[in-house]
Amino acid sequence: MYRFLSTFAAIAALAALFGGCAVNPITGREQVMMVSDEEAARESSQAYSSLLGQAEQSNALDTNPQTVNRVRAITDRLIDQAVAMRPETRAWAWDVHVINSKEVNAWCMAGGKMAVYAGLLQKVQPSDDELAQVMGHEISHALLSHQAEKLSRAKMQSMGVGLGVLAGAAMGVDVRGVAGLANSLATGGLQLPNSRQNESEADQVGIELAAKAGYNPRAAVSLWEKMLKVGGDRPPEWLSTPPNPETRLQALSQLAERLMPVYQAARR
Ligand SMILES: [Zn+2]
Repeated sequence: MYRFLSTFAAIAALAALFGGCAVNPITGREQVMMVSDEEAARESSQAYSSLLGQAEQSNALDTNPQTVNRVRAITDRLIDQAVAMRPETRAWAWDVHVINSKEVNAWCMAGGKMAVYAGLLQKVQPSDDELAQVMGHEISHALLSHQAEKLSRAKMQSMGVGLGVLAGAAMGVDVRGVAGLANSLATGGLQLPNSRQNESEADQVGIELAAKAGYNPRAAVSLWEKMLKVGGDRPPEWLSTPPNPETRLQALSQLAERLMPVYQAARR
């Protein structure tokens, strides 16, 4: 107990020393912020460039205009709503690419760098409304500074570990599974899972972004049902964290009903 208390005191002291906490403008929740959004975005931007470079070399970028335009059209509408919710993100260098990987995955790094994997599009066959829910959820992690928060926690837990080693964590994803893209990111591929609280925040804000952008909130429920059926050996991040899928589906369907008026207003 004393040891726990003294560890806690040491962490609190470190947090105070290095800039500590910030209240998130969207959720109002106090977050440990020893790594800023800007730092996390810088790390992410480098990791993203490196990932794209390798993907290009190994022919792992899907450049089919039909696919790319569809994904961009959806993310553009979500980005408009993200900027409305948190205006300083207008300055982010938002970007999205489709990666040829069989994995069912999608992510958005700190600073707005996104990817959708072909495996998600092919195996899940999401409608536009459903794809908007996936990307809305991922964008929300960045919008809510979850990557910076995870990096901050990791930094506090091991003050000796340099930021460079944590580069991969800025992405909040493990990209090592992408065929041929492994090496440059392997060193930074430290995967930090999102907490249950972060997942539920991203669910809430994601469905709201999508509804305001004119995407049916009920698609969140049908999407996760499809996701659960597809399954696979490595569940995407949004299915890998408790609460269990049934609890989450129930929460999503309540959120969806609450946001139907927002969606209907956006459609008019
Ligand atoms: Zn998530």
